[in-house]
Amino acid sequence: TTEPPILSTHGLCAGYGDFQALFSVDFEIMPGEVVALIGANGAGKSTLLKAVMGLLPSNREMIRHAGVPVGGSAPYQMVQNGFAMVPEGRRLFAGMTVEDNLLVAVDHGRKNGAAIWTMQRVFDLFPALASMRKRLVEKMSGGQQQMVAIGRALLSQPKVLLCDEISLGLAPKVIGEIYDSMPAITKAGTAVILVEQDVSRALAASNRLYCILEGRITLSGNSADVAREDIARAYFGAD
Ligand code: ATP
Repeated sequence: TTEPPILSTHGLCAGYGDFQALFSVDFEIMPGEVVALIGANGAGKSTLLKAVMGLLPSNREMIRHAGVPVGGSAPYQMVQNGFAMVPEGRRLFAGMTVEDNLLVAVDHGRKNGAAIWTMQRVFDLFPALASMRKRLVEKMSGGQQQMVAIGRALLSQPKVLLCDEISLGLAPKVIGEIYDSMPAITKAGTAVILVEQDVSRALAASNRLYCILEGRITLSGNSADVAREDIARAYFGAD
């Protein structure tokens, strides 16, 4: 088909002040696709997500949404355009209930037109949350909080969900529950970028993967096809 990627970057560079963290990154993701972004600590995975969202200075003319340059869009405009980030550490609103954390996003999501995701649909996705609507988020387990963070992002009706290390620090059982929600998310047409430290999990959950090393893409391919030796080389830079 001639359908453009829902998100693409071409020659994307970004950094923090004088420090350049991304070097000419080419990346793309199709609607409904799950793409894993792997790499060691400090490789630049979070930086790529932040640059896409407009949270960092970058050559943003190199970022396209469905083929159209996003230009100087501010982070809130990127959310309105259909990009939602599940940030590392979740960043929920403490002192607020599950329901109120989700409602914040419902108000944002309205601006995106057709509402695919409703609060009920989030509870269908994560049944564990349904009975905890009125609970303060800080009284919940890390895994449950992560579900709220994902639900909140979905309620902004994203076309691309950018997930930053959603399994970090969580128990294997709940990581499994969270990853099991991915097919239902992509079935709704949402593409998912998974920043993930666990390479096996990243491979199992994704259609394609990119490996990043010191700010450069060192490998990309179909997750089912890439050879472990190639991943190791791309990940550690050893030869
Ligand atoms: P991690 O798993 O540690 O989150 P990462 O691949 O997401 O790794 P980034 O957080 O994107 O890595 O960091 C890429 C580079 O940018 C690193 O060298 C890091 O030290 C640097 N960096 C990240 N955030 C900042 C910041 N706020 N100010 C300055 N440098 C930063």
